[in-house]
Amino acid sequence: MNVSQVPLIDLSKASDPLIEFWKDEFRQIRRDFHRYPELGLDTPRTSQKIEDYLYSYGVDEIHTGIGGHGVVAVINGKTNSGKAVGIRADIDALPMIELSDHDHASCLEGKMHGCGHDGHAATLLAVAKYLAKTRNFNGKAVLIFQPGEEGYSGAKVMIDDGLFERFPVDEVYAYHNSSQLRAGQIALNYGSMQAAADAFTLTITGSGGHGSRPESTHDPIVASAYIITALQTIVSRNVSPLDSAVVSIGSIHSGNPLAQSVIPGSCQIVGTCRTFLPQTRDLVEKRLKEIAETVAISFGCTATLDYDRKYPPVINTPHLAQAMADIAANLVGEENVLRDYPRSTGGEDFAFMLEKIPGVYIRVGQGGAPAHNGFYDFNDEIIPLAATLLAKTLEKRLEELAK
Ligand SMILES: [Zn+2]
Ligand SMILES: [Zn+2]
Repeated sequence: MNVSQVPLIDLSKASDPLIEFWKDEFRQIRRDFHRYPELGLDTPRTSQKIEDYLYSYGVDEIHTGIGGHGVVAVINGKTNSGKAVGIRADIDALPMIELSDHDHASCLEGKMHGCGHDGHAATLLAVAKYLAKTRNFNGKAVLIFQPGEEGYSGAKVMIDDGLFERFPVDEVYAYHNSSQLRAGQIALNYGSMQAAADAFTLTITGSGGHGSRPESTHDPIVASAYIITALQTIVSRNVSPLDSAVVSIGSIHSGNPLAQSVIPGSCQIVGTCRTFLPQTRDLVEKRLKEIAETVAISFGCTATLDYDRKYPPVINTPHLAQAMADIAANLVGEENVLRDYPRSTGGEDFAFMLEKIPGVYIRVGQGGAPAHNGFYDFNDEIIPLAATLLAKTLEKRLEELAK
């Protein structure tokens, strides 16, 4: 069931009057992005448009080509404390088919802004226009337009290309729209928001042989069965009951279905791990390796673990999350700010930025169809509110950082 898109409150009153005044302009910008979705790290049109808009707003610096098509805008405040705050928007779309037939539906078959990154990009442009016009802050604004969130680690790609060396920031912020919240609701927590999402492959090797003479083999299938059972104890016996983790096996493969009397020489087990704390992530990887290796040895087999750390967990900096929640409450009222929002086992590459820089990942409700669904569409009504939240956070935090 879709959450109502009807706002809980008068969003125009919650937003900054200047940004609210530009609402139609940014609705049009968002819908243009929506018509021409681009995937992964390959966002030339979107990045060019962003550059053109930024130029028209009179920001101080525009830097393109960071990690491919990443764009950074720098805006200087009226005074310069030497401090800087970053705000990041993801800008990429998804390889999926849009099912709605609204006027701004995707013009490109098989590509769709199904996660609202068109809206995030438009929101950060609204922030850029507002900050360039008002300059009511002490220090520097660094606005980061990042491709490749949907599975391409675009944040890491920009960081590896020197993002934070070239544009050092003291804090960094990002928002994601949420269909699970009504328009006007804002949600976060003071710790982990999203899980680390990792993948692993275990290869169990034995000396296979004739199924009629098992005593002359070391059977990797039997060893794998015990390993899979023993792996269940990572979550039940190793991870604290007060923490949580997921170890799921998605594939097991060995042998040939036509070879019923052949004990194969190896077995491959593939799975995913989700954790919320760096130490739990380390623990889960360590126990996977220990259990697989030692159980394999007990059957005369060997195990090798290939553990791929994909996205780290998204962890908010507690005092900054509280500060941002207070700013949100000033805009929409305390009753519309969920300060203890449940964490999600999904992944998000803003985590790479929060690994390096203190900051906050926050959700702004929009109602409507769920993200990654063919009927999803970003709700333009929340652009002024989200832009106001980000801009006010930047102003307020730079004021605090200058003290
Ligand atoms: Zn998504
Ligand atoms: Zn997204």
